[in-house]
Amino acid sequence: MDAPTLARLERRGDFPSLASGWHYLDSAASALKPQAVIDAATRALGGDYATVHRGVYAKSAEMTRAYEAARRKVAGLVGGAEDEIVFTRGATEAINLVAYSYGQVVGTGRRVLLSQLEHHSNIVPWQLAGWQVDVCPLTANGRIDLDAAEAMLTRDHAMVAFAHVSNVLGSRLDVARAADLAHRVGAKLLVDGCQAVPRLAVDVDALDCDFYAFSAHKLYGPTGIGALWGRPDLLAAMPPWQGGGAMIDRVTFEGTAFAAPPARFEAGTPAIVEGIAFGAAVDYVLSAGLDAIHAHEAALVDELREALSRRNDVTVFGPADSAGIVSFAMDGVHPHDLGTILDENRVAIRAGHHCAQPLMDHLGVPATARASFGLYSAADDIAALLDGIDRTRRIFG
Ligand code: PMP
Repeated sequence: MDAPTLARLERRGDFPSLASGWHYLDSAASALKPQAVIDAATRALGGDYATVHRGVYAKSAEMTRAYEAARRKVAGLVGGAEDEIVFTRGATEAINLVAYSYGQVVGTGRRVLLSQLEHHSNIVPWQLAGWQVDVCPLTANGRIDLDAAEAMLTRDHAMVAFAHVSNVLGSRLDVARAADLAHRVGAKLLVDGCQAVPRLAVDVDALDCDFYAFSAHKLYGPTGIGALWGRPDLLAAMPPWQGGGAMIDRVTFEGTAFAAPPARFEAGTPAIVEGIAFGAAVDYVLSAGLDAIHAHEAALVDELREALSRRNDVTVFGPADSAGIVSFAMDGVHPHDLGTILDENRVAIRAGHHCAQPLMDHLGVPATARASFGLYSAADDIAALLDGIDRTRRIFG
């Protein structure tokens, strides 16, 4: 493992949750929070608190500045402009927004190409919003098969919606190629960036996608907030999907004129505290450096995959260059049993279908065990996991 990279990123002291000495290998579900984010949230909820956007008093104006500064930071994280960022409750809500609202733009006959590895939040919203769903298969090592996508895409497709990084396999999408394939048939590309933003530098212009969705809580930020980045011309053409305060220009009983994006898509009092803490999380991640985080996690993935591949009772899923995530199965041991035994060793992994049941069907398993890393993960977490796997083997024989 690259010792200097690790040393630079060993920021365990920033994370109060780690003081209890557990081995947290579930960052892909939700990352732990550094003190800087906790402090930002505490200040915003405490002495700084005021509502945003409508107040005529100084404290409200200050809070509005802080909240909109957070939007600029979140936009900067993915290389977008601030009015291209819609704050949502998370990636799930961001995808629902596009499925519904862009679905209205497309009209009847809307058709989307998804992939076999998508999270349920990039499947169900399209079904609910009345899109006809086609499914792109995977390559043998668990990437979205873009050759197959090329063969499947037709002028009937208005949308392609793929995960940037699989939450189960860690496999990465060649987003620029997916965008090119979508655009060639006149479709738009939505990227589910939930698992990418915490571990890869993202630039929506370079990727050439049309929508990019992500959640703060996987990026060391709070729950209850996320973002949709959208191309300004597309956002401008999209109708609102929820009505209420803050999303209007003028309301009468005869009809309503809507605000421009992003306000058009942000009905109601926003998640003010969470938004400000989201901005603090972006600052924190950028101060560690996404390239360094990626290198750090890649070294841990290599080490874990290599150790697991030496065992003849473990199957490892996904490609060798998985980003931050390793899914595996132990012969004769249900992942839930493994997870429970590991918990006795103070090792927290994920065991289940990871909200990706169609992928489980494809892999032919009901569930997998998943270890996922964050910038605070270290070699001793892997050692504790491997000890727990040995103990499980002894218990199950
Ligand atoms: N997509 C992917 C790839 C994910 O990993 C997740 C969270 N597990 C989601 C979407 C949904 O994110 P959220 O629950 O934060 O809205």
